[in-house]
Amino acid sequence: MNFDLTDEQKMWQKIVHDFVAAEVQPKAHEISESGEFNWDAVHKMAELGMLGMMVSEKYGGSEVGTVNMSIAIEELGWACGSTALAIAAHTELGCAPLAKYGTHEQKKKFLKPVATGEGKLAALALTEPGAGSDLKGGVTTKAEKDGGEWIINGAKMWITNPSVADYIITLARTAPGTGSDSMSMFIVPADAPGLIIHPAEKKMGLHASQTHALTYENVRIPADYLLGEEGRGLHQTLDTLDAGRISIGSLSVGLAQAALEAAIKYAKEREAFGKPIADKQAIQWMLADAATEIAAARLMMRQAAWLHENGRPFSHQAAMGKLFATEMAERVAYKAIQIHGGYGYSREYPVERIYCDARLMTIGEGTSEIQRLVIARNILKG
Ligand SMILES: Cc1cc2nc3c(=O)[nH]c(=O)nc-3n(C[C@H](O)[C@H](O)[C@H](O)COP(=O)(O)OP(=O)(O)OC[C@H]3O[C@@H](n4cnc5c(N)ncnc54)[C@H](O)[C@@H]3O)c2cc1C
Repeated sequence: MNFDLTDEQKMWQKIVHDFVAAEVQPKAHEISESGEFNWDAVHKMAELGMLGMMVSEKYGGSEVGTVNMSIAIEELGWACGSTALAIAAHTELGCAPLAKYGTHEQKKKFLKPVATGEGKLAALALTEPGAGSDLKGGVTTKAEKDGGEWIINGAKMWITNPSVADYIITLARTAPGTGSDSMSMFIVPADAPGLIIHPAEKKMGLHASQTHALTYENVRIPADYLLGEEGRGLHQTLDTLDAGRISIGSLSVGLAQAALEAAIKYAKEREAFGKPIADKQAIQWMLADAATEIAAARLMMRQAAWLHENGRPFSHQAAMGKLFATEMAERVAYKAIQIHGGYGYSREYPVERIYCDARLMTIGEGTSEIQRLVIARNILKG
């Protein structure tokens, strides 16, 4: 057994860390306040291969492997929650299903530009105003065949990246009823006539990650924009979300690491009763608990990533890792604010932003309750 990263992985980690420390972290506060998307940094990510991490070289990707993807998303999370979420959604939700289920023509047309940075980013639209956890029973967006085209009608909600994307993979009902084979996935160009991208949602955190509601009004796409097989949309979705959990868990580890580092710095500087608060056992225990939980979550995410990379069953570990890492990030950010006292409640200090950013992670890509459901099913079966 070996817990070390390989030399190549260590090098990748250093390259990504140095990059995000220079280009992403310094702008995190500013873009959180303005809501502006950090295009400058995202364009530069293309040169490092950070936009095509799970895409083969044939289609312009860097194919760095799941462990390196997990490392990169953790580093991004450490630097800026908003930018990290945009790249996590692009990588695992927008690119991964196309890389896995797309035809050669689809990958050449849609995947290559977004993986190389020649185009914009990618998005995945599953959630609807009336359906999140229960996609199987709740999705009402419909796609109907009309000659050589599909016509899509419906509405999506809480979708990350559409306004900064070239295409939005869309889950829609293609058969009557709510059976497992009643839905399919489609590649919908973001500029398709009839697709309305509503103004960015006003959220609690992640202000510089663009989240939108979408309306599809008779959106016509060519028949060959169907992604994967007709009727396999739900299976493809669940498969995509399984792997997506590795990125959201890793992002949460990065957020927690940033909160801990800020708390350590502050605890050493701030004095109360004549000494730095870092000398108080109550503060030390909070820091010790945070460091311990971060280490545990990081190991869980690395294990899930390693299993995925090696083609082994990983969804149980990914669900446990996502559950633990996302709830951990919130606990750590909470403690980091506590250690900062009143200053922690101010938007001038990073811990407030991290706390608000972390709050999404137990909700997106499968809530904590859904992770517990998946884990319980796994341990109770057989
Ligand atoms: C900032 C942000 C970005 C997002 N990005 C995307 C995106 O890019 N693409 C996309 O498709 N979606 C995206 N989402 C949507 C997100 O995935 C959903 O919000 C999430 O899946 C939960 O769905 P819901 O909001 O409809 O809640 P619901 O499913 O209505 O759940 C409400 C509550 O009920 C609980 N619950 C539901 N079912 C059960 C059950 N069986 N047992 C126990 N408890 C249950 C849930 O855990 C939750 O606590 C995003 C959301 C946000 C806020």
